[in-house]
Amino acid sequence: MGLLQDKLSKFRLPQLYMERGVYPYFREIDSHQDTEVIMDGKKVLMFGSNSYMGLTYDERIIEAAVAATRKYGTGCAGSRFLNGTLDLHVQLEKELAEFVGKDDALVYSTGFTVNEGVVSCLTDRNDYIICDDRDHASIVDGRRLSFSTQLKYKHNDMEALEKELQKCKPESVKLIVVDGVFSMEGDLANLPEIVRLKDKYNASIMVDEAHGLGVFGRDGRGVCDHFGLTDQVDVMGTFSKSLASIGGFVAADKDTINWLRHNSRSYIFSASNTPAATAAARAALHILKSEPERRENLWKITNYALDCFRQAGFEIGDTESPIIPLYVRDTDKTFEVTKLAFDEGIFINPVIPPACAPQDTLVRVALMATHTKEQVDYAVDKLTKCFKKLEIIK
Ligand code: PMP
Repeated sequence: MGLLQDKLSKFRLPQLYMERGVYPYFREIDSHQDTEVIMDGKKVLMFGSNSYMGLTYDERIIEAAVAATRKYGTGCAGSRFLNGTLDLHVQLEKELAEFVGKDDALVYSTGFTVNEGVVSCLTDRNDYIICDDRDHASIVDGRRLSFSTQLKYKHNDMEALEKELQKCKPESVKLIVVDGVFSMEGDLANLPEIVRLKDKYNASIMVDEAHGLGVFGRDGRGVCDHFGLTDQVDVMGTFSKSLASIGGFVAADKDTINWLRHNSRSYIFSASNTPAATAAARAALHILKSEPERRENLWKITNYALDCFRQAGFEIGDTESPIIPLYVRDTDKTFEVTKLAFDEGIFINPVIPPACAPQDTLVRVALMATHTKEQVDYAVDKLTKCFKKLEIIK
């Protein structure tokens, strides 16, 4: 056995949890993704989806994807840079830029590759990238790929951010990259204060709107719009949440986009987004703009669920979004409660390191515009029972 195989053969943590019957990953779904899914022939209530608008099975979006497949085929067989640009990609870029309020936009194949390819290529050797320590893994990977000095500050701690900015050489470029809505905790970046510090230290800001798009701001334009600060930042977003597809985009001023278009490696060296995914995202964007009642429903059900979980005695942190963390603060119990909930017909996601700090493990409940009060009542009741059984809450 080689040294590598020897090392890998010792990685047995997943097997340990499988033997204990609480392994929570790669659970198979046999139906479309909505508030109810079918798993192993049984109905399960879905509270672990990022489909905030509940659009992944919308007939109009399905039709748009089918029509695009019929017209353009199943793949583009190349990158945007060379043979993989469709008029469909360009139309979507124009519409996204206009929607979020920036000059121009670029569409990538996933949200992950946006952060990977943008954060890594904007700054140079003598520059700085500064991140919140709860930023998404794709931002972390983008930062790691860059030659710039990498700095981190404690989650949403503005004094800590200022200390990092003070460490930077005044003449160097400083890029602050933050999640607008933090994907596990559901709280918002303190953008007004981050923008104030950006101005004070002559820095730049990029905001990840993965969980903000569709949910916050006018017509779902995102957290930057919610704070009225779009003109102060660059924006990235994904299609895999509110836009019911897969793919992602960055939107910024003309010069930034011109730079990225010709330098961002995951944009240039990876095949472009499929016609179906691109058309689906575009159709979802049109629905987002024309059906504000979806976002209204999402907020109604979110506020209802927040009240219910608080009243039932759950610790839910500082969330201000449809992402509701139920803190467990113990990895084993996090897996156990996920399994107990699943046995009660409720799908929730466990969050353990590195997605959170070891003392902050939680299960993540996420709401969709299509959830009903009855579904929330059922989930709160069953989850209360499961959390009490494991003595996580009293
Ligand atoms: N940023 C954040 C904050 C995310 O939560 C995610 C996905 N979980 C991504 C980026 C990556 O997006 P995608 O899944 O669309 O690649």
